[in-house]
Amino acid sequence: NGRVQGKVAVVSGAAQGIGAVFAQALAREGASVVVVDVSDTAPCVQAITDAGGKALGIKADITSNADLEALVKQAEAAFGPIQILVNNASLFAKLELKPFFQMTEEEWDRVMTVNARGTFQACKAVLPSMMKAGGGKIVNIASGTVYYGPPGMAHYTASKGAVVALTRSISRELGDKNIQVNAINPGLTESEGLKGNHQFDVARGPTVASRAIKREMTPEDMVGTLLYLCSQDSDFVTGQCLNVDGGKINT
Ligand code: NAD
Repeated sequence: NGRVQGKVAVVSGAAQGIGAVFAQALAREGASVVVVDVSDTAPCVQAITDAGGKALGIKADITSNADLEALVKQAEAAFGPIQILVNNASLFAKLELKPFFQMTEEEWDRVMTVNARGTFQACKAVLPSMMKAGGGKIVNIASGTVYYGPPGMAHYTASKGAVVALTRSISRELGDKNIQVNAINPGLTESEGLKGNHQFDVARGPTVASRAIKREMTPEDMVGTLLYLCSQDSDFVTGQCLNVDGGKINT
């Protein structure tokens, strides 16, 4: 049996990149996976079903309560109540880096709305379903940038700081509902989206050099931690943020 055998999992931002790898890993370990994104989810769903897994693709924006409501309904109709929510959707790989004093309030609001408010909204939308299921796991994908604060990403680092704080805060409210809420702080990860973004080229060498484990990081490097946080192995662990970054100095 897989580590999340028979569970119903929702992964947001799973059309590609880290989210798609997470969705496929959960399916491989026995979960029925709802693949959510504003972009085309068909390739990820296809990859899961080709491998013999169960998946449903839903086009939804995590900042829209109407989309989230419809998503929960469709997920429940297809597979039953939701037991795992991976909040991975965010504005990241396509972000334009710039100094904070050149950043507009509109740019700030856009990033905060998707990354912080969207995560909050998705948690709220899925909660009744998880309570129906008798409990569950929420895993928020934050970022190691919260601690080392790279330049050019003030809106992004602030939004992920909010995700870390949200994780800790709502874990206290959901303990008695048998719902554990944890986060992963990834280091710089060679996701599909990031590969096309040359702004990060200068960060690669220094980032690898700053790690205890001196190599580039891939989405697969986080799969073990994700499965741990989604499985019963972590039933007494909540409100925690795990850095998965090869042992970067200063995090
Ligand atoms: P990415 O930008 O390539 O993918 C994000 C996905 O989220 C995209 O498929 C996008 O369409 C989707 N999305 C964006 N807004 C959405 C919305 N409103 N509703 C639904 N879907 C939406 O990012 P990635 O590199 O695959 O990273 C995945 C997660 O890991 C993100 O939360 C990111 O912030 C975090 N992270 C990534 C790195 C890295 O180096 N790659 C490092 C730290 C944290």
